[in-house]
Amino acid sequence: MISIGNAFSRLLRRTPTNAQEPLRLNPERRQFPQPELRIVPRSAHALSRKQISPGALRVLYRLHESGYAAYLVGGAVRDLLLGGHPKDFDIATDATPEQVRQLFRNCRLIGRRFRLAHVVFGREIVEVATLRGQDGEGERQVHDDGRILRDNIWGSIEEDALRRDFRVNALYYDISDFSVRDYVGGLEDLQRRELHLIGDPEQRYREDPVRMLRAARLSAKLGFEIADASAAPIAELAPLLADVAPARLFDEALKLFMAGYGLASFHQLERYGLLRWLLPALAAALTRDRDGALRRMTEHALANTDARVREDKPVTPAFTFAVLLWSEVQPEAQRLLDSGVEASAAWHRAGQMAIAEQAQRVAIPRRFGVVMEEIWALQPRFAVRTARGRVQRLLTHPRFRAAYDFLLLRVEQEPALAELAAWWTAAQGQPGVALPAPAAASRPPGSAAVEDAAPRTARRRRRGGQRKRNPGGGDA
Ligand code: ATP
Ligand code: MG
Repeated sequence: MISIGNAFSRLLRRTPTNAQEPLRLNPERRQFPQPELRIVPRSAHALSRKQISPGALRVLYRLHESGYAAYLVGGAVRDLLLGGHPKDFDIATDATPEQVRQLFRNCRLIGRRFRLAHVVFGREIVEVATLRGQDGEGERQVHDDGRILRDNIWGSIEEDALRRDFRVNALYYDISDFSVRDYVGGLEDLQRRELHLIGDPEQRYREDPVRMLRAARLSAKLGFEIADASAAPIAELAPLLADVAPARLFDEALKLFMAGYGLASFHQLERYGLLRWLLPALAAALTRDRDGALRRMTEHALANTDARVREDKPVTPAFTFAVLLWSEVQPEAQRLLDSGVEASAAWHRAGQMAIAEQAQRVAIPRRFGVVMEEIWALQPRFAVRTARGRVQRLLTHPRFRAAYDFLLLRVEQEPALAELAAWWTAAQGQPGVALPAPAAASRPPGSAAVEDAAPRTARRRRRGGQRKRNPGGGDA
């Protein structure tokens, strides 16, 4: 959560409202009152160029030197004013995407729905969007139901501000004079710690239902309240999420759960009735979760991921989604097992069914699905402890660490598994000779003999030790 700095609170009190004329936009286009433009000069705000990434600064300067307007905008301005560290730096300009491309060799144009330029500096990608307007040059496509399918009409900065989602996301840092420009009252919202949609909330959610998820996510990330008027329509409009492309919802899900505030996002999704439109099986299972076991497991997993992100440790969506879909996979696998299907096949089949079902809402890329299936299918193999060869094979399996971490989480749901989990914790720290000898009868064909197990274990444990630092499975 980002907290508002004292310096910033002082800033708002000190800063005079700019004397410019209030914005006058065609009232037929926007039927809501426009706050006055407020310009906070360089001397009165805490946003400094030192906090802006080198790539974003270069883009801002190059655009400016070439005679274009150039602003840092969106989450970066918001987060810097709040004293946080932006995850990315978005830029708005009056140059068209083609004009931007002519200025930067390292530039590619992307998107159809929302065309923009990506300027690439090594690992940093700076997103440069042309200011959007209501009508004029370009194309906009609106569906009968109000959804904006394409939004590529260029416009003025005033119009661009009105097309953004939340007031706190419509602040512009102007590279020509280092001022912060607020067209819609975002500065006051930052101070009050509230999220307000710009314009008529219902219309804005209909234009793009993902804004409901963004409301939940940003309120979780910033620790802000969603203003009543912006929260009110969500209950009724949440079903519109069913029409959003599952690939886009996967991107949103990553931002919700993998960016360091997943637990808070989960709570906001539940609070606003959005979870069932993103993860229907989990939402349904939670309503049946009388003893709270599934909730504990889910919350524990999300909190672990948040902690790992804070510590800059790797995280993989495969592990998180393996947890989020567990309530669907486990009973289905059990059903298949009861009907006589062999264990590995049962778990893989149940996993594939859960992923396919989930793909109607959130399309999980196959490279993660494969890992999720492995994590699930390894679970029953933890129960086999008497066959030395099988124990060793599991310990050295590429997904052992992820599957073992998953087993630890399952203890939250099934306390009876604690003893099994403790056994596998001990097994990892022991040389092979100390592991229980397999009963001759239960030794599967090809399993390692007791005598030769120790050196192999030592060799493999070293490799396993390296994996240990990447419990997510390394497919992030
Ligand atoms: P984060 O901290 O997660 O990056 P962000 O607000 O910067 O949050 P981005 O997805 O990077 O989110 O979007 C950048 C900016 O683009 C937003 O601040 C907002 O002004 C605008 N924006 C993004 N998505 C939408 C949307 N669906 N509708 C309207 N404006 C949007
Ligand atoms: Mg951003």
